[in-house]
Amino acid sequence: MSNSDSWRDWQLANLKKQLEIASTVRMTHPDAYDAPCPSGMPMDPQSTQDIKKKRKQLAKSCVGCKQLETKDRVFKVCSKCQARFYCSKECQRNDWPEHKLTCSKFQRQKRLQKLATTLFVNFDLSAFLSFAVIYKLGLLNPPKRDREPFSILVHLAVEPVDILDFARIRGDLGPDEAAITGGRKQGMIQVTGILPCPEHLLPHETLAEFGRLKGSKSVEYASGNSGPVGALVFMLGDVTFELPSVIVAGILEMAREADPFTQIIGDTGRTRTLPITVETCIEYINTKIRADKDNRFLLRTEVTAVDEEFIRKAAKDVDPLAEDSIFLALAKQRMRNEYIYKILLGLTLVPIR
Ligand SMILES: [Zn+2]
Ligand SMILES: [Zn+2]
Repeated sequence: MSNSDSWRDWQLANLKKQLEIASTVRMTHPDAYDAPCPSGMPMDPQSTQDIKKKRKQLAKSCVGCKQLETKDRVFKVCSKCQARFYCSKECQRNDWPEHKLTCSKFQRQKRLQKLATTLFVNFDLSAFLSFAVIYKLGLLNPPKRDREPFSILVHLAVEPVDILDFARIRGDLGPDEAAITGGRKQGMIQVTGILPCPEHLLPHETLAEFGRLKGSKSVEYASGNSGPVGALVFMLGDVTFELPSVIVAGILEMAREADPFTQIIGDTGRTRTLPITVETCIEYINTKIRADKDNRFLLRTEVTAVDEEFIRKAAKDVDPLAEDSIFLALAKQRMRNEYIYKILLGLTLVPIR
């Protein structure tokens, strides 16, 4: 055995140990379960049943005429992709010539839709997503002229639950190590980053329709003392899915107080206090999802070949002219910020370029 072999073995053993520690990190916020939810009731730790129920209650908008679904008027769904909703047979018929060309793409959208709505109806995760939006767009003190509906792109990626799988996908491990797991990898949703939504990803009419939700009584979760209204456009791979979003007064208040939260490294018991910023809010969401080993949040999903390709690309140099470079840059930046990736990249066998 050469010197470099034993050095490599030592590094690999060290990497595994560090990753085990890193994957037991928890983040806690003092108010996470006390925050007012839209109905004004205090938040309890949320059950999986409740997440399922809330997911069903989300209003859908008609692809054709942009109307929102109401209790009295349940929309139809495209039977093939289950992702496009229509208020009527007529709206569906009008959309079909165009939709049939992309219906298979909408099957990918179906997965995004399910994961995005599941994340959205989770009180705790959703609150931290709202904080990130508030800080990113400066909604605490919006200039008077700027009361139009906001729109933000929430870029998602599916990453393996086992951080060693992540290293395998990136090519950090040698062929022997890479061969240990074959086949399907269990994945989970992670937020790569947020940015103001590029106009071409959200039709102007849709945003305007969402803007009219302010003060609307017909949509349950838009009621009450609502603050800024806008759209969250979730993106995963080549598909997007938008949801109307209301930032309620209680969440604005919490964002104004900006209580820091605590990061606890499980195995060592070491704690760190983190300020509440766009980046740490995103890390909070990602850490909570990673720590949800029993899949109570329903945010686990299989890692597809396309998901793996994104991870591999994000680990390389970002080509500034590539179409998806902005999302790759977000992913790269996040890997520099988050604790678990700092550990991984710090000990990596193949240096990140
Ligand atoms: Zn319609
Ligand atoms: Zn379809």
